[in-house]
Amino acid sequence: MNNILNQLIQLQELTFAKEEQKASNSKMPLAQLEKSIEKIRAQLPPEVADRYDRLQKHYPLAVVPLANGSCSRCGLAVPQQVVNATKAAEQLQYCPHCGRFLFFPDTIARQPKKKLEKNRPVEVGIARFSAPTLMVPKLAATTREEVIAELAKAIGAAGFVEDPSILNELALRREVIVSTAVEHGLAFPHVRDVEGGGLTFAVGLKEKGIDFGAPDGHLSKIFFFVVIATAATAFFLRLLAGLVRTFDSTDARKELLDCDTPEQMWKTLVKLTRETIP
Ligand SMILES: [Zn+2]
Repeated sequence: MNNILNQLIQLQELTFAKEEQKASNSKMPLAQLEKSIEKIRAQLPPEVADRYDRLQKHYPLAVVPLANGSCSRCGLAVPQQVVNATKAAEQLQYCPHCGRFLFFPDTIARQPKKKLEKNRPVEVGIARFSAPTLMVPKLAATTREEVIAELAKAIGAAGFVEDPSILNELALRREVIVSTAVEHGLAFPHVRDVEGGGLTFAVGLKEKGIDFGAPDGHLSKIFFFVVIATAATAFFLRLLAGLVRTFDSTDARKELLDCDTPEQMWKTLVKLTRETIP
């Protein structure tokens, strides 16, 4: 049963990756992703695949983690019996209220122990999601793995999560499904389904560029490492669209890549995204 659950989670990741590609306005064909989606879907028992399709029509996320004994999407408490069965993972479990497939986060995707920082002052624009301490103007990394490790560490050092190695592992797992690099040298490695908090991201720059598996074969230079709470998933797609729109412009990319200090980078990012991320 764990196998079917893992296939469902992978199916959802691929479907979501397709949405990400659409949101990032990529001109790359979606055919490869659609082929992978079809392949996994074909391996599922027909009744599970049908249920997944039905759910997908209503909700972008059909497979969701439990959070403190409740469905993390509809927020309603789930009977203890269902919680136990979800944990045991011997049979597929559904939320009795909204019908979504449930998984137990500790067994599938270990969450950071500490919740994302709450009680931050009310901010506007990009300041809601990031901070000067999360800007890395000169990445030391020279590989995809190192970029992810360096930015995960920055998020850990800034106090947003307790254990950055978990972020590291989950982000790499996501890259294996399909690269998060898009056109114009941008990449959006990310970790979804984090419990609590909203959305937080760190930004790293590498002027020389790194092979991040971009579909156009170009090197990636600007990396946004995004940590996304379950409740902020839909918002992530809007953020992604806003950032891609901002850095569609060669001038904007150059202005950011020219930054030498975290403070300068932060100021530039705030300025450039004023219109695209209100
Ligand atoms: Zn529910």
